[in-house]
Amino acid sequence: MGKTYRTLLLKYDVSKFPPEEAGKIPALLKMQEEFRRWAAEWAKSGGSLHPPERNPLRYFAERFIHAAKALDWLREIKKNGIEVKKLRPPLFFDIQLRLNDEKDKDIGRGVLVDLTKREVKIRRLGIIVLRLNNKVIEWILNRIKEGGKLVMAAVWVERSKRGSVVRLNVALTFRREVVPMEVKRLLVIDVNALHNGLAWAVVEGERLVERGILRPNISKILHLQKVAARLESICAKEDRACEEAMAVKSRIWRLLRSWEDEVVKKIVRLALQYKAMVIVDVPDHNSIKALKEGNYASERKTFLNLGRLRRRLQGLAEWYGVPLREERLYSTICPRCGRKMSVLPDRRVRCQCGFEAHRDEVPVYWAQKRFHELITSSFSSPSAVPLAVGR
Ligand SMILES: [Zn+2]
Repeated sequence: MGKTYRTLLLKYDVSKFPPEEAGKIPALLKMQEEFRRWAAEWAKSGGSLHPPERNPLRYFAERFIHAAKALDWLREIKKNGIEVKKLRPPLFFDIQLRLNDEKDKDIGRGVLVDLTKREVKIRRLGIIVLRLNNKVIEWILNRIKEGGKLVMAAVWVERSKRGSVVRLNVALTFRREVVPMEVKRLLVIDVNALHNGLAWAVVEGERLVERGILRPNISKILHLQKVAARLESICAKEDRACEEAMAVKSRIWRLLRSWEDEVVKKIVRLALQYKAMVIVDVPDHNSIKALKEGNYASERKTFLNLGRLRRRLQGLAEWYGVPLREERLYSTICPRCGRKMSVLPDRRVRCQCGFEAHRDEVPVYWAQKRFHELITSSFSSPSAVPLAVGR
């Protein structure tokens, strides 16, 4: 049994607030700045600074210290007190969830998520009321069905480069006690070449149970990238079409992000279905670097941002008790005899011993070969999912 966390991020465009609500944002922003100054001092002190005497700063300092015990990223900050420049923590609130009118009395917590009224209420600095849409309510109800408990809220105001307030962010953190799944198979994920799609394979000992490939809509993305490039060159020369170029670029970004989210869900579903531990075959740092710097079509580099995908996958796997391990599996070392293989023009590899395969299949052979070692590797203790930090 271990504790695991999952966070829902709600983003609100402040410019769309009614004037009355918008008028409450400056107080929140002022508090955020005051709190961040305190948090920087706290980090510099190595976490030994006591909360200040007066409220509401005291309230936020206490919630922050409480959160620091649960969340790994805050522990990291404590360890590396020097990197306080990057520390822009949100305001943490205690929280209450109201599911139905009769049972749940309002007990005056800092944030109230009220599903009966379909709203979030932020208190302590006046009351800010935010609407919840159907999708968000459904998401929350699903987490509760899974045994999740709403334990914490983080709120921060984001400014544009020009300094005006643009967004109010609310992160709701759920906690769940999870029993690690009993593992029978391995699900090998190859993230070496996202532009070719994400290859997966389920193995059980020497047996290949099932394999498949998940592809983003590459032709659509490449097309949009061409459109964006054309608009950008117009923007550079004639100072028009600039907004359009930005819009196309953010559309590409959204397409890739939603594809990543779908892929992560699909992988975790497969792992649960096959009772498989997820083995993420990660490219080593040097080969990614070489690829990014090298003679590689610039529009394709978009597909090489693996960090977010990996973090999402770790977080979701942990939430469902699916063991996950990142492992470097060879693609050019022979799984039969261990010799370095020669790479043929069509991405096939061949060994002196007679072994031959497509390069992308070799990691799966390695997973089969190392099956018992990998499957008996201990389930690393669940760690908290890093919470989004205000930027
Ligand atoms: Zn060989």
